[in-house]
Formats: sequence, C-alpha cells, structure tokens
Amino acid sequence: MSKEYETVIGLEVHVELATKTKIFCGCSTAFGGAPNTHTCPVCTGMPGSLPVLNKQVVEYAMAVGLATNCNITRHCKFDRKNYFYPDNPQNYQISQLYLPICRDGYVEIETGKLSVNQKNAGMTESGEVKTKRIGIHEIHMEEDAGKLVHDDWADASLVDYNRSGVPLIEIVSEPDMRSAEEVIAYLEKLRMFIQYLGASDCKLQEGSMRADVNLSLREVGSTEFGTRTEMKNLNSFTSIMHAIAGERERQMDILESGGKVVQETRRWDDAKGESYAMRSKEDAQDYRYFPDPDLIPVDISEEWIERVKASQPEFRPAKIERYKKEYGIPDYDIELITESKRMADIFEEATAICGQPKKVSNWLMVETMRLLKEKCMDADKIRFSPAHLASLIKLVDSKVINNNSAKEVFEVMFEEDVDPEKYVEEHGMKQENDEGAIKSICEQVIEANPQSVADYKGGKEKAIGFLVGQVMKAAKGKADPGTANKILKELLS
Ligand code: ADP
Ligand code: MG
Ligand code: ZN
Repeated sequence: MSKEYETVIGLEVHVELATKTKIFCGCSTAFGGAPNTHTCPVCTGMPGSLPVLNKQVVEYAMAVGLATNCNITRHCKFDRKNYFYPDNPQNYQISQLYLPICRDGYVEIETGKLSVNQKNAGMTESGEVKTKRIGIHEIHMEEDAGKLVHDDWADASLVDYNRSGVPLIEIVSEPDMRSAEEVIAYLEKLRMFIQYLGASDCKLQEGSMRADVNLSLREVGSTEFGTRTEMKNLNSFTSIMHAIAGERERQMDILESGGKVVQETRRWDDAKGESYAMRSKEDAQDYRYFPDPDLIPVDISEEWIERVKASQPEFRPAKIERYKKEYGIPDYDIELITESKRMADIFEEATAICGQPKKVSNWLMVETMRLLKEKCMDADKIRFSPAHLASLIKLVDSKVINNNSAKEVFEVMFEEDVDPEKYVEEHGMKQENDEGAIKSICEQVIEANPQSVADYKGGKEKAIGFLVGQVMKAAKGKADPGTANKILKELLS
C-alpha cells in the first residue's frame, strides 16, 4: 500500500546587492565590462592586500533583515570559508558563519491566489486563500566569486575576476515550505521587499537572485524530517517548479521501494527534466571556518538600526491598501502599478501634479507597459519624469494636442524624457481648435468625397468615421477628432 508523503522545503537564496562598489574594495560592481578590468589587488587575492568593509552592504543587509522581521546582531563578524577553486583567488571566501548579521525572522506569504509569475509558471489556482509564516533562520553577508569561462576553441579555461568581491547576502529559510506554490510565493515576497528597498534588482535569469532548494519527504503525520537533498542552479520560477516536482517524484520512488534518500547536492537540468548528483555528504568539504583576522567585528548601534528603520519605504501590501482608499482606480490597475516601486513612484508624483489618477494609470498600463515590453526593459529603468507625464496629460485635457499626437510625444518622452510642452511647440504639433478653420477643412472633405457623403445620408452612420479620418489627414493629424465629427454632422444634417 502506498503511503502519503509531505514535501518539506527550505531555501538558501543568494542576492547580489546593488552597491556601486565591491564589498571589500573600491572596484566597480558593474555587470559586464572587459574581463578583469574591475579588479584590484584585494579582489584578486594578492598577498598583503587588506579588505575594507563597504558600509552600504551592512545597511542593505540590515534593511532586508528589518523588512523580514529579523533580529539584528549588534556585534557581528566575518569568517573565512576555506576552499580551493580557480574562481576564488584568495582560496577562501569571506562570509559569516558564527555571528551572521540577521537572525530569527519571518515573512508572511499568501497562497491560493496566484500571482502573474505563478500563472506564467503553469500553476493552477487552488482556490482557498491562506496566509502562512515562513521562518528565516539567518541572513549573512559574503563576497561573490569570479567566473570561469571554458573556451573549447582554445582548449582552455579562463578566469574573469570582475564578479569577485561583489557583495551578496544569503537568506536562509527554515524548512517551512510544503509546496512549489509556497516556494514561489516566498521568493516573490523576498523579491518585493528587496526591490522596494532598492537593495537589488533580483533577476533570477541574470543571477542577481539565486535559489538553492533543499527538499525532503516525510510520511504525513510524522514529526521528524526526512533526509534532504539540495538542488542548485535554478534560474527561473518555472525551473524551480519543475525541479521540485521532479525531486519529489524521485525521492518518493526511493522511499516506496524501501530505499534511503542520500544527503547530497544535485544539479537540476531543466532541458532534460531530471537532476543528477554533484556531490554527496561523504565528500562534503571541511571548510575550516575561522574568524577573518583582517576585518574587525561590526558593532551596530541602536541609533544606526533606528536610522535604517526610519528610511524603510512603504512596501507593496501597505501601498495597495492605501491606493484603494486614496485613488479610486480599479484593483487591477493597482496590482500592476505597484509591481514595481519605480512605477508606483511615478504614479504618485504624476497624480499629485495633474490630479487625474485614472489617466496616469492608463498611460502607465497601456503605453508604458507596451514600450517596456517592446524594448525588453524593466520598469525600474524608466527615464521619463512624472512631471512630464503630468504635463502631457494636461496638454490633452486642454485640447492643445489630441490623443494620437500625445502618443507620438510619449514615445519620444519614453526615450529621452523631453518636456512635452516644448516638444509640441517646437514640432508644430498643436491641434487646430479654431472651429472656423476646421469647418473649412470639413467643407473641402465633403466636396471631395461625394460617395461617403451619400452613404452617410443614406443611413450608413459609419461613413462619418471615414470623413473624420479625411479631415484629420488634411489637418496633418492636428485637428480635434471630436470637433471634426461634430462639425461634419452639422454640415450634413
Ligand atoms: P547546511 O549548513 O548543511 O547547508 P542548514 O541546516 O543550514 O544546512 O540548512 C540549509 C537549508 O536546508 C535551510 O534552508 C534549511 O531550511 C533546509 N533544510 C534543513 N533540513 C531540511 C530538511 N530535512 N528538509 C528540507 N529542507 C531542509
Ligand atoms: Mg548551506
Ligand atoms: Zn577590487
């Protein structure tokens, strides 16, 4: 008889922090760049070089810890994790083992209501909305390693130290998750906090957020945990979901046939849809951790914590509630706009200036989202200023330009953040609001299109649309279509 199993999951999440410089030296953290150009003696592990801690790293780690209800360790330290690998020039990684900066936190997740990411990952809605606490064991600070580039052509492996010393935080959860749905809800919650804090862009695909999934099974009702495996290399929500389903299946087969799950690290191959063992616990390394003698402990004062607390932004759940009360726009709009803090900031500022929340929201949801998608850009890279969006809306409201011209101006604004008022002026885009002038164009159009006029008079209401189009064309797009419509009807009645 087959037994019922419960899936138990804990995550280790690495996040690359958005500091300008590395954690222990002044080198740039910019992604890309010619190999080994963002390097110095410290981040290439030269003997005699000394690390100096980047204060911003501590502040970001504290901010993430406070957002996730952690206790901040007032006296924390860095430790050396010793191992040899060519992308690790010092032969040790500076990390935190004994006194990590944050401990004992939690985040609240909601399940039962799917987010856009969960739907895209192919999940089906389970119906009942539930909230659950996922414990955070600790958050520690550490440095990233360099990158090996295997060049088959030259039959050589090259190493690029640009990433060496880029600051990371590792967020270690308690084994509190029970399904892929909970895992994704947890990751989305972490990502929301971190993005709203501006601490990282958290892109799974580009590796600025990386999740290792620890998974075990136990019989339903059992209070003890089973033996777990750890899966690395998961760089999308979809592959996390597949890996969880695949590993659950694999462990179940082992347990059902009376075998034992081996504690090991496995690599999930999303293309093949299976995982394979990388290393078992037996050959787990002894990292010989010890406190780094080159770095002094970090003492965090109450006052420093208070300062970081005071500068925490309003996070998404609170923002959503406030928007519902303040702006009277549909929940759907609120969901989309608050997905990115940048978008929400633009919404609030532009609305404060022009007083038209729904119009601002429409520009963000329709044209902005369309252009972002077209240019494969993230919302945090939006360049146009809220003031310019507000003045574009005012130009349309006061009939200085029509909607079509506004879209044209917006595309330029999106690229170069031009001032729409100036742009409209300089490009002669002001619409013709003088009824007399529009009337004379209408008369010409009526003259030139007897067939459509006959159609309209014969009861084909739609023919008026064609005539309006002809007026717009003759006016080089600068007439108000509403006015043209009104005048045409008057002339034809
Ligand atoms: P290690 O130091 O060996 O990596 P940790 O105890 O720090 O192990 O746990 C690493 C991660 O594994 C944590 O996120 C934790 O929640 C998770 N974990 C621990 N035990 C289990 C288990 N039995 N099943 C699933 N996940 C587990
Ligand atoms: Mg670990
Ligand atoms: Zn450096």
